[in-house]
Amino acid sequence: MTKPVIYCDFDGTITESDNIIAIMKQFAPPEWVEIKDLILSRQISVNEGVGKLFSLLPSNKKKEITEFAIENAKIRPGFKEFVGYVREKGIPLYIVSGGIDFFVHPILAEYAPFDGVYCNHSDFSEETINILWPHECDSSCNNDCGCCKPSIMRKLNNPMGSFKIVIGDSVTDLEAAKHADFVLARDLLQEKCVEWGINHQGFHTFFDCIEEINKRIEVGELTC
Ligand code: MG
Ligand code: ZN
Repeated sequence: MTKPVIYCDFDGTITESDNIIAIMKQFAPPEWVEIKDLILSRQISVNEGVGKLFSLLPSNKKKEITEFAIENAKIRPGFKEFVGYVREKGIPLYIVSGGIDFFVHPILAEYAPFDGVYCNHSDFSEETINILWPHECDSSCNNDCGCCKPSIMRKLNNPMGSFKIVIGDSVTDLEAAKHADFVLARDLLQEKCVEWGINHQGFHTFFDCIEEINKRIEVGELTC
């Protein structure tokens, strides 16, 4: 269990802020705020909440919303170097995101390829945007995650077991963090890691992430 595998969140982790929130602020009617608060306080599931949020947006705004999301996204410092570092070390890097394909893939394109990019899908064929969930919870998870990070981790984990590193910031990472061997956390996720006694370290940039992982490789805690 010393071979690391990294599961990295997208919104608010690779990007500096949450793209769904930015899209809603720009395009949704005011009731989106109430839905967002219900998701963050975990009164409704991420799956239900995100579906409701996007149903507030007309499909004919696809081009405008996509362009806005891509232009608005700011990549956290050090991400490019981080991708280079893990590639050089041969550490698998999976992007696991509660975000939506129409902005996740174009924003990540210049850093690709990854070992895998998992996110929710979108359908613009009806009057309002419909979110599709190709990575729903398996039988071991009943959180109605939407894009279920622990289910993806179970599916990808090699039979020998790997040292699972989760990098994230918020509500979509909580279940993943519980299944991790080590978490690099910021914001709400960091607070929860403290509260739940999860093995973690805070971070601000991906340079911090490189340092934390490299430290463990140098002392022989991790091998790659
Ligand atoms: Mg996030
Ligand atoms: Zn789940």
